[in-house]
Amino acid sequence: ATAADPYDVVVVGGGPGGYVAAIKAAQLGLKTACVEKRGSLGGTCLNVGCIPSKALLHNSELYHAAKHDFKNRGIDVKDVNLDLTRFMKFKDTSVTQLTKGVEGLLKKNKVDYVKGTASFSSPTSLNVQLLEGGETSLEAKNIVLATGSEVTPFPGIEIDEEQIVSSTGAIALKKVPEKMIVIGGGVIGLEMGSVWSRLGAEVTVVEFLTAIGGAGMDGEVATSFKKILEKQGMKFKLGTKVIDAEKKDGKVFLNVEDAKSGKKEQIDADCVLVAIGRRPYTKGLNLEAVGIEVDQRGRIVVDDAYNTTCKGVKCIGDATFGPMLAHKAEEEGIAVVEMIKSGHGHVNYEAIPAVVYTHPEVAWVGPSEEDLKKQGVEYRVGKFPLMANSRAKTNQDSEGFVKVLVEKNTDTLLATHIIATGAGELVASSVLAIDYKASAEDYARVCAAHPTMMESVKEAMMAGSNAMGGKAIHF
Ligand code: FAD
Ligand code: NAD
Repeated sequence: ATAADPYDVVVVGGGPGGYVAAIKAAQLGLKTACVEKRGSLGGTCLNVGCIPSKALLHNSELYHAAKHDFKNRGIDVKDVNLDLTRFMKFKDTSVTQLTKGVEGLLKKNKVDYVKGTASFSSPTSLNVQLLEGGETSLEAKNIVLATGSEVTPFPGIEIDEEQIVSSTGAIALKKVPEKMIVIGGGVIGLEMGSVWSRLGAEVTVVEFLTAIGGAGMDGEVATSFKKILEKQGMKFKLGTKVIDAEKKDGKVFLNVEDAKSGKKEQIDADCVLVAIGRRPYTKGLNLEAVGIEVDQRGRIVVDDAYNTTCKGVKCIGDATFGPMLAHKAEEEGIAVVEMIKSGHGHVNYEAIPAVVYTHPEVAWVGPSEEDLKKQGVEYRVGKFPLMANSRAKTNQDSEGFVKVLVEKNTDTLLATHIIATGAGELVASSVLAIDYKASAEDYARVCAAHPTMMESVKEAMMAGSNAMGGKAIHF
């Protein structure tokens, strides 16, 4: 593309936000390029995030079940052993299959994939330092920034990705640590903590707040989730502040203090995972040169049509506001391009699910009870324990519950919170219901197959709906 014949859209970043935007733009007939500096598409999610962590979660669950649970189920397997090299290879294969798949999709849709690092030279042109050497310049009528996020560092604790690791090191450890400390009881801490705990590590999670789960998790769910993880062997130090870390004799020593009493303590481990959040990544973009503002937390400032403070430049995904989730970035990727093409695009931020892929999984859509109380919304709670669901009982996998929050006067479904095996899939119908502004009664009157876990969501809706008499059948 030249100044005389520019691209309609250049997307910077090939993660879930960027590659989806690029494909959608090409599908809408726009001449499109996607610039990615990693050497592989799919961004954080496919390369070092969602996908590798889920491959490890899935296989560590199988390993743990084979070692500790199969016998109870009448399945005798002898000598269950871990081959960590193959275990990691499996994960790497999952990643490569998907990143190559995305490359194929860009090709199929005729998106120009430019491998390199983009930097603004003007509001309509990007300089790209190519991975293979040299540079090129891309002219564009519209630029979409989807540069994602990076690990938030812990001041004074240096990540070496071997002994003191971020999530990137935690998905690639070369041996199972005897003792692991996780700093941060959010999503990454609980998912990666579960992986290494199932593989045999003694895992302690140190969390500054008094609850686990990170932002948005319902309080009752978080309390119950913690108990379940404790039963699985994970240890928690809540309300605890990490002060600093020291490496000595092949171990890491952490100085921590009780946030309330100030009582100090030293704890040690073979490996420390720092998982205290992520921050927007905009390094090297030369945002200042074109007047693109970022807020105090480094997020690129956008209006409700994803416009940055530089005309013609938009931003989506982890680099800007909202939850740092792959599916949120993907939704925005489609909306931003539809806005470029037609002036209209839409994401319903009230209906974005969140899932923690532990066993059992935790999933929700909509506000927590604490949020509703703060907002002064009058609501009803409908709850159904998995212990009363026939499928969960049959499988002897019945930890958890479904809890729905329903607006008192209108019966509108506001939120669904689930702890259950497969909660990530179970929550999907509630996302649809909330998006369609359904009432709890609407949901409760839809047939669920028997015996399925879905019946527990339907029953929670019955219990939450005034119009249904506020009662479940099986509890
Ligand atoms: P990214 O995926 O971060 O992609 C941005 C891309 O832009 C990167 O590849 C980067 O190399 C590239 N880039 C940056 N600057 C430039 C430049 N100047 N020029 C060219 N290219 C550039 N989310 C979920 O929804 N579900 C999960 O299960 C989940 N699990 C996760 C597990 C872990 C361990 C981690 C770390 C994250 C997880 N996430 C999960 C979060 C998810 O990965 C992010 O929300 C998602 O990747 C954001 O997408 P994005 O497109 O905004 O940015
Ligand atoms: P997070 O925000 O989920 O959790 C960080 C936790 O660390 C919080 O509980 C916070 O209170 C705690 N914390 C912060 N500073 C601390 C300190 N100094 N000492 C002790 N605890 C401290 O962040 P994360 O787990 O690092 O994950 C980063 C992002 O990646 C999240 O935004 C998440 O959305 C995304 N992610 C999503 C998934 C998923 O959807 N399944 C999985 C992994 C990551």
